[in-house]
Amino acid sequence: MTTRVSQRLGRLPGSATLAINTRARQLMAEGRDVISFGAGEPDFSTPGHIVEAAIAAARDPAHHHYTPNAGLRPLREAIANYAVRYSGVTVSPEQVLVTNGAKQAIFQTFAALLDRGDQALLPAPHWVTYPAAIELAGGVPVSVPSGMGSEFKITVDHLERQYTERTKLVVFVSPSNPTGSVYDVDEARRIGEWARDRHVWVVTDEIYQRLVYGNDEVAPSIAGVTAGLEDCVLINGVAKSFAMTGWRVGWMIGPEDVIDAAARHQSHATSNVNNIAQMAALEAITGPQESVEEMRQAFDKRRQVMVSMLADAPGVQCLEPQGAFYVFPNVEELLGDRYPTSAALAEGLIEEAGVAVVPGESFGAPGHLRLSYALADDDLERGVARMVEMFGTI
Ligand code: PMP
Repeated sequence: MTTRVSQRLGRLPGSATLAINTRARQLMAEGRDVISFGAGEPDFSTPGHIVEAAIAAARDPAHHHYTPNAGLRPLREAIANYAVRYSGVTVSPEQVLVTNGAKQAIFQTFAALLDRGDQALLPAPHWVTYPAAIELAGGVPVSVPSGMGSEFKITVDHLERQYTERTKLVVFVSPSNPTGSVYDVDEARRIGEWARDRHVWVVTDEIYQRLVYGNDEVAPSIAGVTAGLEDCVLINGVAKSFAMTGWRVGWMIGPEDVIDAAARHQSHATSNVNNIAQMAALEAITGPQESVEEMRQAFDKRRQVMVSMLADAPGVQCLEPQGAFYVFPNVEELLGDRYPTSAALAEGLIEEAGVAVVPGESFGAPGHLRLSYALADDDLERGVARMVEMFGTI
């Protein structure tokens, strides 16, 4: 029997983070004062020189047409140079495919690598889109759980326990959404070497690589630190580092056969990325980089405020995140009759305290909440204070 909505999409959950933001907006439209920690995007506007480059491109009829399927040549070249600079890998422009945000790169990577039933190792807590993208490609996400005790990082032992003959790839996201954990060089290399020796592909999502708060300017890239790691697809984009979420430019870098396959997929799905947005991305990665540092410093300050306020919150345990713009506190002590789960607690927070957060259930880690600190300083302090107050009454 056929179903009205295909079975494949019928069972696909919507993005939980987008759902929280929709609910927050709904309440705001009703006149409620809601502070949202739900957003996965910088609150800054795109730096002026990037906007100017887009305006210039929009005025130039040369940019009013389709671009080559894989992206404008100068942008592919610039991305190859950017990968040398920030990920420490040497790649040719032919190995670069420009996509509509990192999200399209993620979908196409799995479409290009996974056959039905192939297993993808997915360190948890993980970003919501990963299991959905793996399943839509016909693959099977295999969760590799980690906890606060290991700073939410997995090791080779964890991977080895889940490895089977059907294991095709491992997903590696550092800095991590939702935990903010960052793997150091040795930790990343050990995982890279394990994958290389096991003939398992590495899919590394480096979208937060420049949002790190230790001494290094960039998070170590598993692709850059592992010698001989050829079976690797690197995903990145301009959304987070350049406050360009709305421009929808990302990319994937990999061996040419995989990039060709993904480009063929893209040729049918979306043709190419918006021509003008590609010119903006070109300016972002080749132009002045000061604004990246300014935004990083602003996030760092907010991170510290957030962590110190949460340290005083009753029933909350929170690590200091080393990258991205999220904290991922454990709230298990607060769960009980009134709020049996972190999902129920998140619902209570938005409805009763006007504070929007994403429950850990969405990231394969119940008992936690994800809070983004990419919001204005005042709102951040007011919002956390409200949350702490409500927790005091539980
Ligand atoms: N990867 C991760 C880990 C993310 O958190 C996000 C955005 N939330 C993306 C990719 C998507 O990036 P883009 O906006 O470029 O599609």
